[in-house]
Amino acid sequence: MRSSKEIMEQTEKYGAHNYKPKEVVFSQADGIMVKNPEGEVFYDMLSAYSALNFGHKHPELVQAAKDQLDTLSLSSRAFYNEKLGEWMEKLCKFTGKSMVLPMNTGAEAVETALKTARRWGHLVKGVEEGKQEIICCKNNFHGRTITIISMSNDDDARLGFGPFTPGFKSVEYGNLEELEAAITPNTVAFIMEPIQGEAGVIIPPAGFMKKAYEVCKKNNVLLIADEVQTGFARTGNMFASQFEEVEPDIYILGKALGGGIIAVSAVAANEDILGVYTPGSHGSTFGGNPLGCAVSIKAMEILERDNYPQQAKEKGDYFMSKLREIKNDEIVEVRGRGLLIGMEFSVNAAPYVKKLIKGGVLAKETHEKTIRFAPPIVSTYEQLDAALAIIKEALTK
Ligand SMILES: *Cc1c(COP(=O)(O)O)cnc(C)c1O
Repeated sequence: MRSSKEIMEQTEKYGAHNYKPKEVVFSQADGIMVKNPEGEVFYDMLSAYSALNFGHKHPELVQAAKDQLDTLSLSSRAFYNEKLGEWMEKLCKFTGKSMVLPMNTGAEAVETALKTARRWGHLVKGVEEGKQEIICCKNNFHGRTITIISMSNDDDARLGFGPFTPGFKSVEYGNLEELEAAITPNTVAFIMEPIQGEAGVIIPPAGFMKKAYEVCKKNNVLLIADEVQTGFARTGNMFASQFEEVEPDIYILGKALGGGIIAVSAVAANEDILGVYTPGSHGSTFGGNPLGCAVSIKAMEILERDNYPQQAKEKGDYFMSKLREIKNDEIVEVRGRGLLIGMEFSVNAAPYVKKLIKGGVLAKETHEKTIRFAPPIVSTYEQLDAALAIIKEALTK
């Protein structure tokens, strides 16, 4: 078997350097555990940014994928397939919405939500074509396409990629007055993450999302919740919008929706919104493919049957309370919901991440000073305790 060093050198030699990965090579994995080519084992506390809520290689998801591979993998949307309708019905029940539109990556689902809002704004709300405005939040992360980075204020994500897509305004995350002031008769939607993951696990002030929803309703503006990272039990509710008892007009879903096996994303909304699509107006070759649908159907079954939201809540409360016991005056705050936890430092967190990885815990800093801890929801208490011992050792000062 090739060494980690060889694999990393090959990757860096031939790949564009749009990532700077931590120096760990994933060779095999199971649940929360990851093995490198040298046979060293690690606890995965990133879970592929929450795509791996089910852990690596969940046996039932792997079986669903294998069975579907032996049956049918792709039809394209030029034809029907046996799995798509079943998956759509299940996702509608899950979200409480009457329609879904399937895509593959989170970014594609965000694009789809933006297109939906603009078309709804023109055809239903009656905003003049080309005048539709969408409000977003500062420090958001919604993905990487040109239109999506047009909503971003992250210079690294934007440099050299202009000209950007017009029609966006940004307001401070959690600031209701700014949101109200930004709305005009041409505003069609407000897009927000219920918890900002990439920004460092930022939870808005209590009541913000609910009040934002009311402000949107009053002004006939759609509330779009980007639950790509927070959705499917990660935060201790099936969707993080539920903390505020908000049913957003549009859900954007991805990551865990594909069970950590295949890219499956979707927009879910009611017919008065998603009904604006007509044949030819939007699509994706792989969107709604039977392989993705089969895995995703099984993933949703498991989420419900094994009560993942409850598990994430209980394990998250436990994990967070243990993290808070760590004594280090460079730790400013430990915050989070369920198993989406951020530990903020007063200093650059990268040296601490290095120590964690050396000890066998995989984590990554986000926005320099915050380490995100987001283990798979299937992690056992024994595994969490073993990881916590390493974390305590690495972070105590
Ligand atoms: C990861 C993420 C996306 C983008 O998903 P991709 O599959 O990487 O395109 C969008 N929104 C949020 C909140 C995310 O965390």
